[in-house]
Amino acid sequence: MTHRPKGSMCMSCERRLARCDHLPFREMPVLRTDGTDFMVRCTYYVREKQEDRTR
Ligand code: SF4
Repeated sequence: MTHRPKGSMCMSCERRLARCDHLPFREMPVLRTDGTDFMVRCTYYVREKQEDRTR
């Protein structure tokens, strides 16, 4: 069985270039499963800073 984070979350996460293998994905909320693989909502997600669009 494997637990992995939702890919689209990682794409907008500030930590996406870090290695996240050590994170406890098994303890995170499951978003979807096919019975073998589990897609979880990563609780370590940090939204990437957006460029200043106020100007
Ligand atoms: S912290 Fe979570 S959401 Fe962010 S890159 Fe790592 S696994 Fe993906």
